[in-house]
Amino acid sequence: MFAKSLIALIISAAVVGTRASDCHGDQKTLDECYMQIALDFAKVHNPRFPFGALIVDHGSNTISCYGANSNKKNKLLHGETAAFWNCTEMYPSPTHDDMFNPGLDWSKQTLYTTGEPCPMCASQSIYRGVSRVVWGTSIPDINRSGRQQLMIRMKDVVDSARLGGLQTDPNVPELVGGVLKEECDAAFLDSFSVFRDNKYVESMKAHGEHDFLRQHGIVSPKDEL
Ligand SMILES: [Zn+2]
Repeated sequence: MFAKSLIALIISAAVVGTRASDCHGDQKTLDECYMQIALDFAKVHNPRFPFGALIVDHGSNTISCYGANSNKKNKLLHGETAAFWNCTEMYPSPTHDDMFNPGLDWSKQTLYTTGEPCPMCASQSIYRGVSRVVWGTSIPDINRSGRQQLMIRMKDVVDSARLGGLQTDPNVPELVGGVLKEECDAAFLDSFSVFRDNKYVESMKAHGEHDFLRQHGIVSPKDEL
């Protein structure tokens, strides 16, 4: 029993452990490098739903933790949510006061995620206090690939954030979308082909998405649309 627990702990540590980064260079290079790691992580841990996330301390340029959901136990733990939970478990408040004395300087953390955060994960990004959120594929493009999305953009969630008295919140994260978009789009398109039935194609046509269908080989270029 003890050995089993120990093995589980070691596997968990290998998955979420902090480590020195292999990513170096200017901001664009760093963002692309970390996004590639997030995408690789997603493909390993959840190839059917390649949402992968990692949290990077951009002050020290180290990876703080990872997140992806295998959907084996709890489908609500989206990749970003899993990353927030993993980092919070790894860096508990030294004074048991996560509200005012968290174990990680969240203002120095960037969340990388292969897909634009849903409203649930976008909200957690604000509540957790990361200062940057970087994604590959947008919510509309994930939806176009065939999988249901709540069509509320992260910018709208961020814009809704207000401090008491309806003051503007100055600590909301900076948003950067479209990093390694081509690679992330391809992963979602590939994994979500199972959702693209006739109803999907008809609805895409009804919404004027003919070019998307043709460009991605979902219908033949010769097909009458
Ligand atoms: Zn989410």
